[in-house]
Amino acid sequence: MTTSVELCSRQVVLSDREAGAIRGLSGRAADRVLECVLVADHGQEHAARTGGDEWWLRWWPGRRVLQRIPSCGEAAADETGAARADGCGCPAGHEGGHAFASPPEGPGDPAGPSVRAGGV
Ligand SMILES: [Zn+2]
Ligand SMILES: [Zn+2]
Repeated sequence: MTTSVELCSRQVVLSDREAGAIRGLSGRAADRVLECVLVADHGQEHAARTGGDEWWLRWWPGRRVLQRIPSCGEAAADETGAARADGCGCPAGHEGGHAFASPPEGPGDPAGPSVRAGGV
């Protein structure tokens, strides 16, 4: 199922120190290049999942914060948590619209082929 939700896809490159901090906190190596998963046209804050499931890098112009935040899960609405693939994959309390069209996630497969915004 595909919808036309456009993601922000703003990229950020981690420094050695940030990548080391993520590895230390989450126990997993982080990709050096992260991509904002919020829906396009959100505010100043960007967010990208990193390390483990609930680790997020949030960033603003000139500022970056690594935080553990549960997924928004809007419309996942299944108390078993099983329907998460259909829910919003953004961090709870995120800016902008819910990203219901987030692609299926697999560790080590950060590429979202069809949802990249082409320009702007
Ligand atoms: Zn963004
Ligand atoms: Zn959401």
